[in-house]
Amino acid sequence: MKIICIGRNYVDHINELKNLIPTSPVVFLKPDSSIIPNKNPFIIPSFSNNIHFETELVFKIDKVGKHISEKFAHKYYSKFTLGIDFTARDIQDNLKNQSLPWEISKGFDGATFVANKWFNVSDYNLDDIAFSLFKNDIQVQSAVSAQMIWKIDQLITYVSQFYTLKIGDIIFTGTPAGVGQVLNDDVLSGFIGSVKVFSLNVK
Ligand code: ZN
Repeated sequence: MKIICIGRNYVDHINELKNLIPTSPVVFLKPDSSIIPNKNPFIIPSFSNNIHFETELVFKIDKVGKHISEKFAHKYYSKFTLGIDFTARDIQDNLKNQSLPWEISKGFDGATFVANKWFNVSDYNLDDIAFSLFKNDIQVQSAVSAQMIWKIDQLITYVSQFYTLKIGDIIFTGTPAGVGQVLNDDVLSGFIGSVKVFSLNVK
């Protein structure tokens, strides 16, 4: 399966990293080997001194498709949850500064957390999904899906021009402002509305 990620999809996060607002979605992939096995903690890798959390809405593809029009995009997913796109910010910044691909900064083993509690799209207004992240019981990220520059259907249309979507692929839809560093013994907890979706330890 593919882990398809969208960068720069919330204006407030683009501003905090001093990036430019893109004219089309920023797309990158992570390998499936980056997924943290169920019930395991996130383990800070020795090669980075600045691992950031990025909390994102994640949609699961449940139908094969290519060149999907926006009108039919909603037929390709039925479940969503929260995930964390862990990023070795020091490695990413270093590679960005050299105009090199920064894939390893987001694709390393453990760089992808996906909650195992999934929500039915049919139970929600997709423009009004509120989600938040707490680090050690302090809220650090909070957003509503309406703030996304490109909505999930537009992302599916865009991405499927280049990549065939397959059953089981997941799409990380970008992170809002508030990203920050994780340290040993931190506990990250994600919420959709007031529902606790996950709790993840950092070691
Ligand atoms: Zn991200």
